[in-house]
Amino acid sequence: MAFFTDRAAAAIADGKREFLELGRRAGRFPSASTSTDPADATAEISVWCSNDYLGMGQQPKVMAAMRDALERFGAGSGGSRNIGGTNHVHVQLEAELAALHGKEAALIFTSGYTANDGALTVIAGAVPDCVVFSDELNHASIIDGLRHSGAAKRIFRHNDAAHLEELIAAEDPERPKLIVLESVYSMSGDVAPIREVTEVARKYGATIFLDEVHAVGMYGPRGAGIAAREGLAEEIDVVMGTLGKGFGTAGGYIAGPAALIDAVRTLSRPFVFTTSLPPAVAAGALAAVRHLAGSDAERTALHRNAKLLHGLLRERGIPFLSDESHIVSVLIGEDAACKKASALLLERYRIYVQSINAPSVKTGEEILRIAPGALPEPAEVEKFVEALDSVWLELGLPRTAA
Ligand code: PMP
Repeated sequence: MAFFTDRAAAAIADGKREFLELGRRAGRFPSASTSTDPADATAEISVWCSNDYLGMGQQPKVMAAMRDALERFGAGSGGSRNIGGTNHVHVQLEAELAALHGKEAALIFTSGYTANDGALTVIAGAVPDCVVFSDELNHASIIDGLRHSGAAKRIFRHNDAAHLEELIAAEDPERPKLIVLESVYSMSGDVAPIREVTEVARKYGATIFLDEVHAVGMYGPRGAGIAAREGLAEEIDVVMGTLGKGFGTAGGYIAGPAALIDAVRTLSRPFVFTTSLPPAVAAGALAAVRHLAGSDAERTALHRNAKLLHGLLRERGIPFLSDESHIVSVLIGEDAACKKASALLLERYRIYVQSINAPSVKTGEEILRIAPGALPEPAEVEKFVEALDSVWLELGLPRTAA
């Protein structure tokens, strides 16, 4: 056994030396706890890079729903969705997600990653001769799903609807076409030109699959996302989301036409061949979806904080990639300096912002990906920027003209 594992480890290390080295240099993550126990050494760290953007992971109704489901149904689901692992909470959650997006049906997966991978494998793979148009910055889970589908793929330049049209126009008009994009991009924080993309889709008869992972809960009426905010929800054929970010728990989903959802339910291997979400997790997600459908307070606080952060960074000439969303990526553009800035924030100010280095971003495009979230008060955002400003000064990082 040792012989095999040693050989496997050596082979992996050989092939992936550069990747492993990057991983090693990335260092370890601090244990970021929100515990209020004074004996807990991590209690004082304030986290400014959490994807629990709206604080739903600590929302009392969400936690109560989870506790209640835990008492009633136990810790796990007991099986895969088709063999004993479907609880009425799963069914209810799917119905409410479908309603949130104005679609006929929805299907939940154990993560957003498997939702993209599992759904795109089926959707792009089932239609003979399908050609897929994919934004160049699409998430790994989209890339994997499209690879697994075996469909032909064309990559359009990031957020470039004109390039998308150029590629689509070059294809046989009879060929089935699928456009796959995100609404809010996870690393750059910029927002897709959804109106232009829907116009191209309509002109060429293409189907749209939209990943709203960084938008559901945070944008649009009832938290239905960016397409809904733009009044374009009906133009989107399949919307995909996560329960692990704005909705504070874990899991992923797609929503769309009933026949298509049924096909994915039947054929998607990551849906069929895995233990379903624990009912308590589904119950927590359901409580979060319901809460955010009825409350704008968290969204208002999130956008207030993002706007304040944009303004303060601009005043100080600290460069960031986009002011279109709540994801504020401060550009450092140098591997060592980026890690150093993250380390200094932690050591000096007990502020945790993870540095994002290659391979998550290209070398030379290293960022501090800040997600202020809905929870901080404006005074805390100001204090955060002061801390970042001191680090900026100490490291002699370049500023943009005010
Ligand atoms: N899509 C995008 C755009 C993402 O950023 C992520 C995760 N960061 C996912 C899908 C996967 O979602 P999950 O974390 O729920 O697996």
